[in-house]
Amino acid sequence: MQETQKLALLGGQKTVTSEPGDMFTWPIITQEHEDAVLKVLRAGNMSGMDITKEFEKEYAEAIGMKYSLACNNGTAAIHSAFYGMGIGVGDEVICPSLTYWASIISVYSLGATPVFAEIDPETLCVDPADIERCITPRTKAIVVVHYAAMPADMDAIMAIAKKHGVMVFEDCSHAHGCLYKGKDVGTIGDASGFSLMSGKSFVAGEGGIMFTNNQRIYERALLLGHYARHGEIELEEQKQWIGLPCGGYKYRMHQLSSAFGLVQLRHYPQQMAEIDKAMNYFCDLLEDTPGINPIRPAKGSDITKGGWYFSRAKYDGQALGGLSVKRFSEAVEAEGTICGPGCNKPLHTHVLFSEMDVYGHGKPTRIANLPEGVDISQLVCSLPITERINTEVCGIPWFKHYRPEVIAQHAEAFKKVAANYKDLLEDDPDKTQDIGGYSSFRRS
Ligand SMILES: *Cc1c(COP(=O)(O)O)cnc(C)c1O
Repeated sequence: MQETQKLALLGGQKTVTSEPGDMFTWPIITQEHEDAVLKVLRAGNMSGMDITKEFEKEYAEAIGMKYSLACNNGTAAIHSAFYGMGIGVGDEVICPSLTYWASIISVYSLGATPVFAEIDPETLCVDPADIERCITPRTKAIVVVHYAAMPADMDAIMAIAKKHGVMVFEDCSHAHGCLYKGKDVGTIGDASGFSLMSGKSFVAGEGGIMFTNNQRIYERALLLGHYARHGEIELEEQKQWIGLPCGGYKYRMHQLSSAFGLVQLRHYPQQMAEIDKAMNYFCDLLEDTPGINPIRPAKGSDITKGGWYFSRAKYDGQALGGLSVKRFSEAVEAEGTICGPGCNKPLHTHVLFSEMDVYGHGKPTRIANLPEGVDISQLVCSLPITERINTEVCGIPWFKHYRPEVIAQHAEAFKKVAANYKDLLEDDPDKTQDIGGYSSFRRS
């Protein structure tokens, strides 16, 4: 039936006829959220710490972690954790190049060097084998990103970390509520951090939170950007620094955000269950559609995608006569749904990670604090999979409600384009065009 349909991009009828309504609205704001925020406002309690500490405690209990520290954004939570872990001058930190910049850039302000590792093209997460290639005697930590809500291969990564005596940080900013083999992401490495900004799957407004079970990591994190909480420091080793924020940073979370987050913590499990049901239904409908294969855990596995943030599908242009992902996405969106080519631009292709001298060392910042004469060949990287991945993935709609008829229309939009790809081949000028962005946060 689809074979005879004219694509909306070429003047045909749109597949999706339903109004979006609240299908994509996020976060879902209830009376409870409004009351909690207004209460803080009316009490003049915006810069306090009581509600933030309550939020930290509830979140930590929810995932079974000992220490938690809320910050004014995810970037600050990650920076605090890095300092907590003792990352400093001359250290190397391994990170996937396919991620949002905040996963790694703050190592610069600690005097450390980022080293970029390759991804697994099936999960878009860091490839453990390539992590091992990147390890040197100066490696201090591995940053794992559970990218686009797919948990990374933590068993393999933790084994490598143990073998080489390096620490692991989990950036869970895409992965709130994801389970890796039944365990919450963010509880497996030495420390973890989550962005809570309003585009993410768990939203507090602007905010971030870090977790660890290690008292030293927690107390050092407090030292960096939480001078007003230095009273919580117990370890003698850390006490000598007490009084002023060591790094000169102030990372306290706004209590309008933590009050919102506290309410959100109570709603999230149920919302996540509905999202999971809706998204799996959509992916089921796309099974066996040529060219498009949503990335999700194997059925019946104990890996889950939590809130399905920024979910991507693998795109195989070869199955569609060489059609570019850009042209495919354009046609799918013309049908009235959400797609979008690519994901993030690889960080190692940005000048900040090659030549740029941020602090005036007289040499590129990425190598500024390495000893003279060190072999930096592993830093000058070519990462072929990461470099081509933006032409091999696209977005899928991020449904917040399980409404089968509406979801079926959106799936039909993808299927219609896949079935009629030949009509798009002639006018496909975009094959080599730049896709993805370093910093924009994108819909879907
Ligand atoms: C959003 C994000 C961050 C940074 O969080 P902010 O709250 O925006 O500072 C860090 N890492 C990843 C992977 C992210 O997507």
